[in-house]
Amino acid sequence: MKILVQKFGGTSVATPETRKQVIHHIKQALAEKYHLVVVVSAMGRNGAPYATDTLLSLVRENGGALAPREQDLLLSCGELISATTLSSQLATCGIASVVLTGGQAGIITNNQFTNAQIVKVNPKRIYEELKQGKVVIVTGFQGQTEDGEITTLGRGGSDTTATALGVALRAQYVDIFTDVEGVMTADPRIVEDATPLEQVTYYEMCNLAFEGAKVVHPRAIEIAMQTNIPVRIRSTMSDHFGTLVTNRSEQNELVGEIHDRLITGITQMASVTQIKIAVQQGQFDLHLKVFQKMADHGISVDFISVNPSEIAYTVKDDQAEQAAAILRDELGIEPLLHPNCAKVSTVGAGIAGIPGVMAKIVEALTEEDIQILQSADSHTTIWVLVKGEDMVKAVRALHRKFKLHQVNNH
Ligand code: ADP
Ligand code: MG
Repeated sequence: MKILVQKFGGTSVATPETRKQVIHHIKQALAEKYHLVVVVSAMGRNGAPYATDTLLSLVRENGGALAPREQDLLLSCGELISATTLSSQLATCGIASVVLTGGQAGIITNNQFTNAQIVKVNPKRIYEELKQGKVVIVTGFQGQTEDGEITTLGRGGSDTTATALGVALRAQYVDIFTDVEGVMTADPRIVEDATPLEQVTYYEMCNLAFEGAKVVHPRAIEIAMQTNIPVRIRSTMSDHFGTLVTNRSEQNELVGEIHDRLITGITQMASVTQIKIAVQQGQFDLHLKVFQKMADHGISVDFISVNPSEIAYTVKDDQAEQAAAILRDELGIEPLLHPNCAKVSTVGAGIAGIPGVMAKIVEALTEEDIQILQSADSHTTIWVLVKGEDMVKAVRALHRKFKLHQVNNH
């Protein structure tokens, strides 16, 4: 069976006009003789009547008390509304479809409500419906526990639904339709001349996504790469194929294109707090105690830098006060906090061992009078921590310095 999975994000299903474009892509896939599974997100972004954040705000207005299980029941409504609306619009066009909830589609998760993990996918029902010639519309972002409880998959969950179904159904492609032309060298909302990338490896995509490129969720890409299902990230508003995310070694013809690229893109993550702790001579076990305490309280730490006289790390702004209180109350430490910082990442599979990349980053930021509060590197990424107010300037400066607005920038 030649199967295609198409996923349409919130803005793609937001209005009758954008849904017309959705139907255009569905018709195109049917004309190409695909058996079609369509995954949809809830309609629109925050403020739109049936968007996920709007549903959440109904509870916040009451003070926010709602058990996670019940929160998932509420949140799962957004995708149901979107899926059934699309089904009716397809019926108007004479296209038969069936709507399946995550559970009905065979997506089984653990019982970690609001952020559940998929444990298996049983695509039997989907196959049955496809065999009857129907377009199968699946509500994204949700699954069901073994005992029938509805769960949701956390942020970016519809991307995960799409690639998990792609893997289970051995689809030819998973197409992630969104409101940009593909994966770009930087967030187009920040860098005006960011350019779409024709191809990226799963590895590059995971790195970009982990460091803040929110165009697709990293978990979704990790799932796709388990069986090398090619993913295309593309615009709902055009017929362009967008960015192909695939495995370099499987696609020999791509080697030249990808291998030469030094920097793939620049990403940013706002709203982090830098925590600094002075270490006195002989306090050898302090590092262990600090990170153990953070772990005990479920606070995730990033950007860790340790030397004999200082410990520095970052936490999300909204966990900073809690982290500081733990250090004070449980370890008797008075930490130095620097709130509202941003992590700016220069990502590229080709960075490893190339001299001069860090020098260029420092040069780009110094030219703009941007102070580097902390830096770190791995073989694929160089991170710098800057003040929040410098974030946009920093991303633009790095994008310019590495000439990422030019398609052949290597
Ligand atoms: P959807 O609702 O379709 O899932 P998202 O908002 O999750 O859409 O993802 C699309 C958005 O990702 C774009 O509008 C863009 O602003 C943002 N984005 C951030 N970084 C990048 C990048 N490097 N390339 C493309 N888009 C990016
Ligand atoms: Mg998304």
